[in-house]
Amino acid sequence: MKRTIYPKGQAELINNEEKAREFFESQRWPDGPVCPHCGLVGEAYKLQGKTTRKGLYKCAGCRKKFTVTMRSIFEDSHIPLHKWFYAIHLMCSSKKGMSAYQFHRMTATYYGEKVSYRTAWFMFHRIRFAMTQHPMVEKLSGTVECDETYVGGKIRVGTYKPRDGKKPKYRSPRDNKAVVFSVLQRGGDVRSRHIERVTADNLRPIVDEMIAEDAHVMTDSSTALTGALADRKHDQVNHRHDEYVRYENGVCITTNTIEGYFSLLKRGIYGTYHQVGKPYLQQYLNEFDFRYNNRKSTDMERSGVALRATAGKRLTLRRPIGIQ
Ligand SMILES: [Zn+2]
Repeated sequence: MKRTIYPKGQAELINNEEKAREFFESQRWPDGPVCPHCGLVGEAYKLQGKTTRKGLYKCAGCRKKFTVTMRSIFEDSHIPLHKWFYAIHLMCSSKKGMSAYQFHRMTATYYGEKVSYRTAWFMFHRIRFAMTQHPMVEKLSGTVECDETYVGGKIRVGTYKPRDGKKPKYRSPRDNKAVVFSVLQRGGDVRSRHIERVTADNLRPIVDEMIAEDAHVMTDSSTALTGALADRKHDQVNHRHDEYVRYENGVCITTNTIEGYFSLLKRGIYGTYHQVGKPYLQQYLNEFDFRYNNRKSTDMERSGVALRATAGKRLTLRRPIGIQ
């Protein structure tokens, strides 16, 4: 029995290299081929010699040659486009993410030959890079929920004695964990950041960058956040007193939406990825943010958004992925 992975009629995109390239051309160039060298639109012609590489265009303006993958995350990749599409589709349609290792195994079943784990890992990081939001996007407005959460890094909690005779230290369950701070517009988008520590100084620039001046901000009773939100319209729920939802003049004050997002993020990180290195955490956050922000689309539409976002972005192995 052959399982359908792509919706009907679209399956050839992950099976047929030519169809995949034509599809990418139609997505990337809705008004005809755009020359990446000089920016001329719709003035290029296809080169169709017997020995010519498939999908090669020549610009009538600058006379230079190009293909659709140029200046995209697919540039210089030896992986055929249809396999890239398979990876993008799996990542966009799996709610809790898809591990590179699982993709590596699935390619064996689907294509009869494996994409190596190392290659799969690199492909997935490139896709996450494409999913990264543009830094100049609109600020979040309306009702905005903020919260932080701690991921990873299990250690034994309690007092531990260093061997070298130094003073015993207390280790809290939060030591060794990574902090994620997220801002979520109710009914809208979420944006997450990996930060070093929760302090008002660390949070203030993020608050200024992400939240509109007139937004109504809701948080739990964290003191660092109170400091960072000093000049904003700000309401808190006190989890310590078992308060999670409160109504004031018909307005629902709660951080339950963002807590829900965190639970999905954690289930994904623990269940799918198991371990995420701190330098890469931001990339995984971008991936989860992307899926959440496109949650109202179908799996196919979401894959389309990711595919269009691949254009104009390049990532090479030598560039540290965690730093942008
Ligand atoms: Zn040109």
